[in-house]
Amino acid sequence: MNALAPLAAAGCTDAPVLRERGQREVFCGLTGIVWLHRKIQDAFFLVVGSRTCAHLMQSAAGVMIFAEPRFATAILEERDLAGLADANEELDRVVARLLDRRPDIKLLFLVGSCPSEVIKLDLSRAALRLNRAFGPDLRVLNYSGSGIETTFTEGEDACLASLVPEMLAPVPGAPRRLLVVGTLADVVEDQFRRLFAAMGIAEVDFLPPRRSGELPAVGPGTAMLLAQPFLAETARRLEERGATRLAAPMPLGAEGTLLWLSAAAEHFGIPRHVVEAVTAAPRERAATALAPYREQLGGRSIFFFPDSQLEVPLARTLARELGMRPVEVGTPFLHRQHLAADLALLPAGTMLSEGQDVDRQLDRCRDAAPDLVVCGLGLANPLEAEGFATKWSIELLFTPIQGFEQAGDLAALFARPLLRRQALKV
Ligand code: SF4
Repeated sequence: MNALAPLAAAGCTDAPVLRERGQREVFCGLTGIVWLHRKIQDAFFLVVGSRTCAHLMQSAAGVMIFAEPRFATAILEERDLAGLADANEELDRVVARLLDRRPDIKLLFLVGSCPSEVIKLDLSRAALRLNRAFGPDLRVLNYSGSGIETTFTEGEDACLASLVPEMLAPVPGAPRRLLVVGTLADVVEDQFRRLFAAMGIAEVDFLPPRRSGELPAVGPGTAMLLAQPFLAETARRLEERGATRLAAPMPLGAEGTLLWLSAAAEHFGIPRHVVEAVTAAPRERAATALAPYREQLGGRSIFFFPDSQLEVPLARTLARELGMRPVEVGTPFLHRQHLAADLALLPAGTMLSEGQDVDRQLDRCRDAAPDLVVCGLGLANPLEAEGFATKWSIELLFTPIQGFEQAGDLAALFARPLLRRQALKV
């Protein structure tokens, strides 16, 4: 593979997109808390919601119940919803109690939900009030994770977008810096930091940071590299602050990772031979890890229901590095600029769809009879019952899949459902 070759001009760059606006089956933006709370270690996410929201959080993050929790739900009772109690006063009481017990919290997110939106509880005003009461030791921000407004990865976008106004401008004369935007597992972040340093890019920041006090600066000298494809609002706000977005595919698979690193290298004037030398060993390891999966997945067809917004980069990786055949690639929103490099590498003729009309899409899926279906939890069980092999898209957010060292793990996630079916048949 000569991954440093220029991007293919065709692919799906100008491919038509089927736009559907019917009933959809996706989680809400609260789900993002599950991976965000692990990343920003001194932050706390207080969902202002109902018992349904609390149940969603508990089941989505059930595996974390043994850890000291960094999220909770302030439950709006019927009295609040009926306007019989002052929800603001109750919220202040809950926050005061929380901070009394947890003085280690430095950043508190008030996360809006469907119920808090229905009763028009103004969380931005609540955040201002709580900042006055508890600042400057504690910073209080707010964003919405409501299912009325967000699909599940948009929760991360809304959260990171709320951080942008908190980012300072760089000091005058400061060197140009690279800003990697999007939550990455710590292990992946460390790998990327080492690769950037080896290439000669030492001035690298990550958003979100591991600690709220390490929020990076942003300004006209900032080069921004998106690590996740679902950060439209965050990127827009960073660009408003002067950051320049570097065009690159998402860092999935060996090829995507190399092109992603190369985009940063080119911006900082690092010669191509340096990138090749620094990445030679990890590329080799990725190729070795991917080889057995190419045997298992090559030629198999795959159908993506819209869920995580990772669908286009995943389909690109699975097609180009593992020889899979994407039949339909559905995504909740198709951001053509952010996904331009991924789209250019997607096999020409792949059907793209945006949004959802779930019954019609299920019919298309049945007609196509793909070997593997990637979808949300709500669709996976019925499709399994119909005999389809499925992969839960949410797993792709909970598992580190970016970078060279994770390329094999990414392939394994897609091979596993097929292998399990084979084993059951045997
Ligand atoms: Fe359900 Fe809305 Fe709460 Fe999400 S925010 S769990 S969609 S009620």
